[in-house]
Amino acid sequence: MAVDLHTHSAASDGTDTPQRLVELAAAAGLSAIALTDHDTLSGIDEARRAADHHGIELISGTELSVSWPTGKMHLLVYFLEPGPGPLQDELEQLREGRHERNAAIVAHITDLGFPVTMDEVLHHAAGESVGRPHIADALVARGLFPDRSAAFEQLLGDGRPGYLPRRTLDAETAIGLAAAGRALTSVAHPYTIGLERGEYADAFRRLAAMGLTAIESHHSEHSVELRLRLAELATDLGLATTGGSDYHGLGKPGVELGRGHGDLVVGDDVLERLRARL
Ligand code: AMP
Ligand code: FE
Ligand code: FE
Ligand code: ZN
Repeated sequence: MAVDLHTHSAASDGTDTPQRLVELAAAAGLSAIALTDHDTLSGIDEARRAADHHGIELISGTELSVSWPTGKMHLLVYFLEPGPGPLQDELEQLREGRHERNAAIVAHITDLGFPVTMDEVLHHAAGESVGRPHIADALVARGLFPDRSAAFEQLLGDGRPGYLPRRTLDAETAIGLAAAGRALTSVAHPYTIGLERGEYADAFRRLAAMGLTAIESHHSEHSVELRLRLAELATDLGLATTGGSDYHGLGKPGVELGRGHGDLVVGDDVLERLRARL
């Protein structure tokens, strides 16, 4: 059986409700999915009810942006349940940082000649984790850009004129808070960290020493060669591997649940080896 350990719902910047996401996963024949919305666990309860109904497994998770010397890193957290806890409490602070940054970006891009209001942005967000994708959607609705990607490439993406930073944790703190709550961590789509080919081994050796559990070797945007190279590195360092599509519904056109661009397969053995680390 196949699984998908990296998915987003409308609780953050995906376009399917948590329930719909699980229905699609069951229809696709997946035995388990992890819901990994950015900085929130608010979709988990709904997704789990749907998963129970459809006889598949729902792994609770979230995806954090953390700072790293060479750039930004996304960190997937698994088996983190809604409720109080060291990392759960920090998620609230991170969402507060999003609110402050969203308001600042809206004012800034309005000055730059891309007028949009916070009300319009919130109209495109269904959940509590609001960010640049929803600002992009509001700009698209205004007719200022053809789609989300164009808004990122020309205005909102890192280093673009409309970009402003937000509150983030450093990698070591995030991994520590996850571990303190008995959750597991995996570095998402490592190709985005900004590492040269020869720098991966050293970076992951340091992350392993911080308590990292796994590397997301299998991701929609990884070549087959990179998937195998990262899996080999994980084995060398005693880390587990994870894999997922990074499905966002219509938010990332062309990325299918469980299949990515069509060549992604993550077996349920990957989930079982991850679970064994609990
Ligand atoms: P934020 O969390 O507000 O900083 O926004 C970052 C999120 O925007 C990422 O997690 C992606 O889901 C999405 N994103 C980043 N780059 C792009 C892009 N070029 N096109 C569409 N969505 C993007
Ligand atoms: Fe996203
Ligand atoms: Fe990500
Ligand atoms: Zn993601």
